[in-house]
Amino acid sequence: MNCIICGTGPSRKKLRKGDTEILQCLSCGLEFWVPDESFRAESIYDSAYFDGADSAEGYDDYKNLEGSLRATFMRRMMRIPKPPGEARLLDIGAAFGFAVSEAERIGWRACGLEVSQSAAAQAAGILPGRILVANALQLPFADDSFHAVTLWDVLEHLSSPQTAIAEIARVLRPGGRLVLSTGDVGSLVARMSGARWHLYTLPEHLFFHTRKSLRILLEDNGFHIESMRAESAFYTLGYLVERLRKSLLGRTSTKSANWPGAQVSLPVNLFDIVSVQATLRTEA
Ligand SMILES: [Zn+2]
Repeated sequence: MNCIICGTGPSRKKLRKGDTEILQCLSCGLEFWVPDESFRAESIYDSAYFDGADSAEGYDDYKNLEGSLRATFMRRMMRIPKPPGEARLLDIGAAFGFAVSEAERIGWRACGLEVSQSAAAQAAGILPGRILVANALQLPFADDSFHAVTLWDVLEHLSSPQTAIAEIARVLRPGGRLVLSTGDVGSLVARMSGARWHLYTLPEHLFFHTRKSLRILLEDNGFHIESMRAESAFYTLGYLVERLRKSLLGRTSTKSANWPGAQVSLPVNLFDIVSVQATLRTEA
């Protein structure tokens, strides 16, 4: 099977996660699995995805993570150069709207896109009319609409990364900036963890990128890479324990975030999440 990012083959069987075989491109290192024809990525993101203590997928309680998520988003948004005047930013995979609301606090005119009806309904509580329910593969915006587009830990969920990046290139102004974070399957932690790597979460993660596959994906769509770096994020102790339990034990049965200290938030950098800033080339 040829790689969807670099177009070369072959891919090899890398490892097995449950019943699923994860394949790896021998050229760019992209890893992926092949869902059944009936699989619809969007159908995963019901309310249980964001509030699913009984499920191995998604989050036990996304709302409970608001403080640490906002701290992470503020730090990430601060790193994006903001043009003078009205600066428009689109956050794809906006969930409850925390990133959009942090961007607005530092002066962006921001809106969000979210595939989950239930998450967007939550976001409407803090940002009425600012979060659209739509699929990232078909952006409901005119060409050249935005100065910046952000995807925080979203690319790996999309069934066609190339379509998504091409759509982002279409709605960005020339010179506009795409900023994303995603797991780095080529990182030391990922390679040492094998099938237990905490970001091999199926079925929501469809693709596992390397720095090389990201570079090819972005450059092929007209972007110039400005920076690629491992980045820390804030996590609560409760969330770290939840992730550990889900990766070691699968399903959990009780909410984990109620114990003393569970809400303590700290920055963590395992060097296995890469943050990329890229600018859209202006036509020659
Ligand atoms: Zn490849």
